[in-house]
Amino acid sequence: MIKPEGIILHDTAGRLDKGNCVSWFLKKEASASAHLVVERDGSVTQMVPFNIKAWHAGSSILDGRSGCNGFSIGIEIVNPGKLEKTEGGYRSWFKKVYTEADGDIRAASSRYHGDGYWMDYTEAQINSVTDICSALATKYDMNFIEPHWFVSPGRKRDTNPLFPLDHLRTFALGRGDNGVERVEKRVVATSLNVRGGAGIGFEKMEWGPLRGGGDS
Ligand SMILES: [Zn+2]
Repeated sequence: MIKPEGIILHDTAGRLDKGNCVSWFLKKEASASAHLVVERDGSVTQMVPFNIKAWHAGSSILDGRSGCNGFSIGIEIVNPGKLEKTEGGYRSWFKKVYTEADGDIRAASSRYHGDGYWMDYTEAQINSVTDICSALATKYDMNFIEPHWFVSPGRKRDTNPLFPLDHLRTFALGRGDNGVERVEKRVVATSLNVRGGAGIGFEKMEWGPLRGGGDS
């Protein structure tokens, strides 16, 4: 059992097809898990109850505390990860070539990510992630939302540099990175059920077998 204090955001770094990541997590050989998976169309699947440890962050540290899985909720956002420009499009690490027909692809760089091409998140994904994070932050009185790269520096670079972290923090935590406090948090209709059973607000709920020892 865990008491979640914050959220760690991930990219699936995999194919965009709906259900692809969820079915991978449900396989026995997957040694990783996350609480939620957010598809390109914004639909959300819950894989692990919020009060149970999921295996998403691996070796990680936040404010001097290691093992972030022990105090965070992990959200996987479907995204192919870093892309390389190639003939006819942009190639992912898993050799699939994407074009603008698959998503908005842009050059971006940060000191954490280096230079590269990345596929933008869909508006539906950002909306879903924002609503979920707002509801979770309120429910658990959370104090952080961090990308995986921040807690596993040098080892991970998800989420990608196009992710609107400040926007998300402003709405979900009531503050952005600029430290300006917002008077009100966004009021969200999403309701969360942290026990087993149906989750109001989730399109679909699937409980994967719990696994240990993994790392994503
Ligand atoms: Zn990750």
